[in-house]
Amino acid sequence: MNETNLNASATESSDPLAIHQRAIAIDMHADTAQRLLDEHVDLQQQLSDGHFDAVRAKAGSLDAQFFSIWVEPQLFGERGSKAMKRADDQIAVVRALAEQHPDTWLLATSADDIRRAVREGKIAALLGLEGRYAIDERLENVQRYYDMGVRYMSPAWSISTSWAGSSGDDVGRTRGLNDFGKSVVREMNRLGMMVDVSHVSDQTFWDIVNTSTAPVVATHSACRAIADVPRNLTDDMIRALAKTGGVVNVIFYPEHLEPGWQLLKKEVDAEIAPMVQQASAAEPGDAVRKKLARDRVRQREFARRLPPVKVSRIVDHIDHIVKLVGVDHVGIGSDFDGVQITTADLATIADLPNLTKELLRRGYTESDVSKILGGNMLRVMEAHAR
Ligand SMILES: [Zn+2]
Repeated sequence: MNETNLNASATESSDPLAIHQRAIAIDMHADTAQRLLDEHVDLQQQLSDGHFDAVRAKAGSLDAQFFSIWVEPQLFGERGSKAMKRADDQIAVVRALAEQHPDTWLLATSADDIRRAVREGKIAALLGLEGRYAIDERLENVQRYYDMGVRYMSPAWSISTSWAGSSGDDVGRTRGLNDFGKSVVREMNRLGMMVDVSHVSDQTFWDIVNTSTAPVVATHSACRAIADVPRNLTDDMIRALAKTGGVVNVIFYPEHLEPGWQLLKKEVDAEIAPMVQQASAAEPGDAVRKKLARDRVRQREFARRLPPVKVSRIVDHIDHIVKLVGVDHVGIGSDFDGVQITTADLATIADLPNLTKELLRRGYTESDVSKILGGNMLRVMEAHAR
């Protein structure tokens, strides 16, 4: 929302909703591009499933969404052209969304574009590439994706590549960036593309921080001091990332937020495995349909069998980061539409004001809230502008 013609009383209001609406809210990570491509969902409608569409984004006063371009790791390596096609197809559907609905969306690549979207009452749509399987080990592809509008990339998703270790596999325990990986970081610095450390191995994290000359971001991560999972950042990492001028965007996914939750989820996954396989086998459609059938069962059973996690836990992670490095180095990255369960009271993007309410309840000022919701990321994007 953030209408520029707010009347005087709204401008002065300390009502949490008014404070939320005045802030520029930027979600650094959602997986909705795959839904656009594979399920042909109409984001102009309020969808009955998933976590994100234009109607719910407006209800939650979201101003900018980074659409994650996620490529299955199986498409990497010798099948590089397939990985690139998969990325290109997702970029095309996000661009088409903005082109077909110019009253709702503004395709954005910069902080200025986001501010323009706010002035025009639109949602800025931005692109980030998750796991650089799509650059196919070719440096020139970094610029190719920059030219297509991509403004951040993470070196690896849950599977390590030859040039970057992931936090998700055994190889990543010892692998960081090799020389090619470091040259990718330097190329991104040259172009003004943000380097995302979410999903990378600890060694890759340190290699990125020591190589990058620009602020480094985590687009959807949390704190290992609270939830001890390899995907999260240690206190030392958070301090080092803040030193680059960067931002940790806190994820909304219970597995990375709640202590012990990952183990519980593993147990539930084992319990429901036969049910999940049965749903997949019973689905007559293609691989995409089968995956959706499996996800539906997991969504239903996770909600039934796992303890609910609340938005206050997200704010615990924000608090932890603020105590370590101050309020200038924290933001938000929901991972909506990329996870099978969300927090109970921030279940979809429409509930985003509940985060602001909890921040205010804990004593954060309006200035703090506006930094956390998006102001800090605007600063980092400006630092990358050429
Ligand atoms: Zn992710």
